[in-house]
Amino acid sequence: MSRYQIFQVQLMLTGGIFFLILCILLALNENYYGKKKLAIVLVELSAALLLFSDTIGFLYNGQSGSLAWFFTRFCNFLSFFFSVFIGYTFFNYVVCVIFENTKKKDYPKRVNLIKKIIVLALFLVVIMSITGQYFYVDVNNVYHRGRLFILSFVMPIICIILIMTVIIQYRDRINKSTFISFVLFAVAPQLGAILQYFFYGGFFINMIIGVSSTVIYATYVVEQNRAMVKNVSFDVKTGIFNCYGFLQKVDDIIMDGYITQYDAYYFDLMRFGNLNSQYGQEMTDEIIRTYVRKLNDFFEKDDVLGRLGGNYFVALVKKTKRESFLNLMSGITFDIDIGNKVEKITISAVAGGYSIENDNVSSIQLLDFVSIALSLAKHSYKTPYLFFSDEIRKELFEIQNLEQKILGALENGEFVAYYQPKVNCKKMKLCGAEALVRWMRDGKMVPPSEFIPLMERNEMICKLDFYMLNYVCKDIANWMKEGYELPCISVNFSRRNLGNPELATQIYNVLKDNNIPTDKIEIEITETIDEYSITVLRKFVEELHDYGIKVAIDDFGVGSSSMNLLREVIFDVLKIDKTFIDNFSEKEVKILKHIVGIAKDTGAHVISEGVERREQCELLLELGCEEIQGYIFDKPLIHDEFEKRLATNYYMDKYAVAN
Ligand code: C2E
Ligand code: CA
Ligand code: CA
Repeated sequence: MSRYQIFQVQLMLTGGIFFLILCILLALNENYYGKKKLAIVLVELSAALLLFSDTIGFLYNGQSGSLAWFFTRFCNFLSFFFSVFIGYTFFNYVVCVIFENTKKKDYPKRVNLIKKIIVLALFLVVIMSITGQYFYVDVNNVYHRGRLFILSFVMPIICIILIMTVIIQYRDRINKSTFISFVLFAVAPQLGAILQYFFYGGFFINMIIGVSSTVIYATYVVEQNRAMVKNVSFDVKTGIFNCYGFLQKVDDIIMDGYITQYDAYYFDLMRFGNLNSQYGQEMTDEIIRTYVRKLNDFFEKDDVLGRLGGNYFVALVKKTKRESFLNLMSGITFDIDIGNKVEKITISAVAGGYSIENDNVSSIQLLDFVSIALSLAKHSYKTPYLFFSDEIRKELFEIQNLEQKILGALENGEFVAYYQPKVNCKKMKLCGAEALVRWMRDGKMVPPSEFIPLMERNEMICKLDFYMLNYVCKDIANWMKEGYELPCISVNFSRRNLGNPELATQIYNVLKDNNIPTDKIEIEITETIDEYSITVLRKFVEELHDYGIKVAIDDFGVGSSSMNLLREVIFDVLKIDKTFIDNFSEKEVKILKHIVGIAKDTGAHVISEGVERREQCELLLELGCEEIQGYIFDKPLIHDEFEKRLATNYYMDKYAVAN
């Protein structure tokens, strides 16, 4: 062998070993998996085996002995075989990449046709090698080209041309680097083939195949890594950062020392549940994507936007843009295409913010601050945005303190029921009462406005409602024992309870445990707006009706979809809100008339609450609303005072006084 040939052999062996190691490394790496990985492992393995078989065939060429007899024939056959087989594995990889999101049955017909042609080419390798048309080995074990040797070039070229047509047609589906690696793999070996035609031995073509398959391999690894990083750091639906990505980016900015230039935000899209029920999941996703695009238009390179999931977003915005950002939060309007028409939609958000003054913060801390601010903006302050501050921190501490105290008060039974009479002002007779909670704290009475909103922020309110139901049932049981004629008493249940699927049954059980007839208790619940809770509310009301317990809809007329609710759920009582009758305008009288009419049609009672003046009473009577609850007759009364009303039952004297 000449030195040049020795060099070739050494290079081919080294290349083969290198490609084999790469192939094994990839096969063993658990971070990569799936069809693509299998295809790329096979491409690399074929390249390695091609180099090995050609080298061994070459080494034994012209040698004597049975090993040489075997290897010159078998390895030369293998090198022809692998030069086609690698095309087959390459095509499989191309198909895996280009048709990644296509079902097998939807592949273009050409894909299967090309595969068949490549298999035919493989078959030809076998036939032509056996018959000595591609190559033959003489008695001295020397390799010679066969008569149809040229066909062994033509077939792969045909295959490659066919594969290239697929790659070019679907080039939009792959990125640039993948496209280049594919073209390199298809074209470069052809140059090698020309060289090889003039110099014996597969050195050029094989090395080029090996190198270009490694380029494909490397592109695969890079792309996969990029996809992995993307999966970990980006939100799939919108393409912006997810929580992890956002926090990483914030940490980077903290490390770079620029964090104090920013405000941090946590914001929640309003009426998000409504969107879902109105437009469906897919359309809602599209709306969110459009919203994010609009936000992105506002964001500049050094601002950061992320989505934590659902309707929750986070952002880091330069302080100089605070005003315009908050403006954006108050509403972004855009067109959406729903089937056959275009609708305008406005998305507004509630935001919790934090102006970062100190660079000694962590991203997690920032997230904490803004999420607290958001929660307070939504539940306590009911403002469109709120910035976290030291006062808020202090207030939060106090709230937590109060929460602890409330929990203790529930255990110690510091809450009592006051009863506010409901009066039929036609008959001037007591016709019911509403139980209202009071907290007797250190001998002083705390009104519900000071603790109910706090309790409604979490499930604490549900505990209180059951506590009150139990409390009222015990009072009713005693009054019944003492022989009072007792009207129905209503107990308030916060809407928070609707998350409890056993709610109706648990209410019924309290009545049963206290031996209270079900017509002595009525449940007051406020109206609700979104469709999901209407469904839940309807189920709850129907279950209570099955138990024989009545339901009143509280604060009726305040919400925007009161009428809608009436159509969906059958209530026993409509409680018209105080604000409605405070300054009876002509319009309100009209609406009220309408409400009383609808209530009568659905068989419901109407009661007006918060009635303070005689003319309100008279107008209500005129409109057909006979039942009244308000200071005009009584404020909420302590147990013993209410007992006196139970004893007299009539309000003639009082009304005369009020007159
Ligand atoms: P609400 O259910 O709408 O109760 C009516 C409120 O209006 C009561 O305030 C009552 O004292 C007041 N009110 C009644 N008549 C008049 C009037 O003529 N003029 C004026 N200005 N006010 C009148 P209160 O007792 O302070 O209760 C406030 C709210 O606290 C209640 O509104 C209810 O939402 C909640 N609440 C009270 N007790 C409970 C309870 O046991 N459970 C739940 N979940 N909420 C309760
Ligand atoms: Ca009420
Ligand atoms: Ca009310």
